[in-house]
Amino acid sequence: MNPVEETYRLIKKYDIHARKRFGQNFLTDSHVLEKITRASGVGEGDFVLEIGPGLGTLTRALCEKVSGTWDASDVGAEDPSPQKEARGHVLAVEIDYDLVDILEKEVMPLYPQLEVIEGDILKTDITEISKKYNNGKPIKIVANLPYYITTPIIMELLEGAAPVESITVMVQKEVADRMMAAPGDRDCGAVSLAVAYRAVPYLAANVPQNCFKPRPNVSSAVIRLDILDEPLVHTEDEKLMFKLIRAAFSQRRKTLVNAIAGSAELDISKDAALLAIQKVGLSPTVRGEKLDLKAYAKLADALRKS
Ligand code: SAM
Repeated sequence: MNPVEETYRLIKKYDIHARKRFGQNFLTDSHVLEKITRASGVGEGDFVLEIGPGLGTLTRALCEKVSGTWDASDVGAEDPSPQKEARGHVLAVEIDYDLVDILEKEVMPLYPQLEVIEGDILKTDITEISKKYNNGKPIKIVANLPYYITTPIIMELLEGAAPVESITVMVQKEVADRMMAAPGDRDCGAVSLAVAYRAVPYLAANVPQNCFKPRPNVSSAVIRLDILDEPLVHTEDEKLMFKLIRAAFSQRRKTLVNAIAGSAELDISKDAALLAIQKVGLSPTVRGEKLDLKAYAKLADALRKS
C-alpha cells in the first residue's frame, strides 16, 4: 500500500480542500517521503511523535518503520499486517478535526501502533508525552510542518526543557537556511541561535514545490536537528537569554540597548541595559545580530544579577 497513492485516494474520496489556515500542503512524492523517513533515523521499536499527520502519508511510513515493515525499495508497497504484534508507537497530534476523523476511519485500523490526538502542538506538553509513552526518555519528533507556525514550533521545542532526541522536519527552504546560519551570517536570526544552543543541524534534502498538493509558493527542505546532551553555552537564566535574543532580532536595525529597552517581553530600562552591556565588555552601540551565543549568555547572567 503506497502512502502517496493512499493520500490521492483519500483526497478524492473525501473531496479534500486543503485548509490554508492550518498550513495544509499534503506530501505527494514518494522519494521525498523516503528521504524524510530515512533522515529521521526512526527504527524498529521506536516511539515517535508526529506533528500534523494530515491524511497520514508520513504517518503510514513511520508506522511501518517502527514496526519493521517499511520497504524502501518499493516505497511502502508492503501491506501492513494488523495481526502482527504492535511494535513501536507513533503518536500523531493533528489540529484539524475533519482530518482526525479520516485518520481514525482510514489509517488507524491498519496500524495498531498508531494513536492520533486532536490538538494544537503549541499547547501540547512534550515532557508529559515523553513520560507517558517513553519512560521520560528523549523522543524523536518528525513532521512536515505547517509553514505558518514553523518558527514558533521549533522555538518552543528548542527553548523548552522537553526531552527530545532529534527533530526531523520539512520546512520552508528559507527557514532551513536560517536554522543552519551561524552568528553574524546574513540569514542569522533568533531561530539560528536557538538551534546552535541545543542542536546540531543537518540538511537532509531540498524539496521542490511540485512535491505537494496544493503546491506551495516556496520551495522546502528537510532538516534534522540532533539535540545535544548539554546546551552549547551555560547561562543561569535560559528564559531571559531567549527573551534577549528575540528582542534583538525582532528589531535588528536598532542597537541592542534600544532593542532590549523597547521590548514588551522584557521589563528592562535603557540605563540597566546599557550598564549590563558595558559590564560584559560590549560596545554601547553594538547591534544584537553581531553577538554570538556566549555573549548572550553572559549578558543574561549580568542582567539577572542586576
Ligand atoms: N503530514 C501531512 C503530509 O505530509 O502530507 C500534512 C502536512 S501539512 C504541511 C501540516 C499539517 O499540520 C496539517 O495536517 C495541519 O492540519 C496540521 N497542523 C496545522 N497546525 C497545527 C497545530 N498547531 N498543531 C497540530 N497540527 C497542526
